[in-house]
Amino acid sequence: MSTGILGIHHITAIAGNAKRNFEFYTKVLGLRLVKKTVNFDDPGTYHFYFGNEKGEPGTILTFFPWKGVPKGRVGAGQVTSTSYSITQDSVPFWLERLDNYDVLHNNKSGNLDEEVIVFLDPDGLKLEIVAHSGNDPRVGWATDEIPSEYALKGFYNATLTLEGYEVTANLLTDIFGYELVGESGNRFRFMNKNIDTANILDLVCLPSGQRGRVAGGSVHHIAFRVADEGEQLIMREKLVERGFNTTPQLDRNYFKSVYFREPGGVLFEIATDPPGFIVDETQENLGSQLKLPGWLEPRRDDIEAVLPELN
Ligand code: ZN
Repeated sequence: MSTGILGIHHITAIAGNAKRNFEFYTKVLGLRLVKKTVNFDDPGTYHFYFGNEKGEPGTILTFFPWKGVPKGRVGAGQVTSTSYSITQDSVPFWLERLDNYDVLHNNKSGNLDEEVIVFLDPDGLKLEIVAHSGNDPRVGWATDEIPSEYALKGFYNATLTLEGYEVTANLLTDIFGYELVGESGNRFRFMNKNIDTANILDLVCLPSGQRGRVAGGSVHHIAFRVADEGEQLIMREKLVERGFNTTPQLDRNYFKSVYFREPGGVLFEIATDPPGFIVDETQENLGSQLKLPGWLEPRRDDIEAVLPELN
């Protein structure tokens, strides 16, 4: 029997300054840099993968930092918020920490048994930290300043802003294995019952909203997990049957990918769990070296010469 979609695999966004991006996510938020590589289509640009200790799917936020990139516009047809899960007693720690790093934040109480801290990254990307009553067994990456009990565990949910929501909702429920579990005003919450973590998507319906423009400080795409390549091909076939244009299976070194645009305009990817980030580094050394795919290795010296310094 097919195991289907298993929640969020990763989310990819666009940043400006590479060093500023690297420092914010590894230092302030305390995520682990689990892979440092380059944009395969533009090897003079980094591709950072930030996640938990093991670099597990459902914890991975990736960035293309492009120096001088224009600022994007947040709006319909985009992932407009990315949320991390924390334990309920971690809220005071994070409020104090964001204050200490001069990160402006709102501490609003969520309407669904949640306490939510909302803030922006240095490029204006909207993030949330959510304390909730659900059980989340994932262990966050501990740093000098952040003990593992308070660390970000991985994604809690993502919010998609759409002009209308029903056709996207049908895709989630009919093909992706999500169920509608709540609604509040123009927000509709869907949960994937195949897995316990990173399994929530909120669709916000904003019919009069301007469409977003993908550039600095905005999300480029959201990827959903499947167990393996066989599951990916099953999912791809279902999408093609429903009339979606999808890419072939593409090799991204750390997973295989299929991309398509969902009806509301958000770029979706389906990504396999294997082989994962330990395919070219040990778990202990994840993120410690610049990793290049084989066909770029002959150009390593030139590539390293143009990449910005991080330390
Ligand atoms: Zn991706």
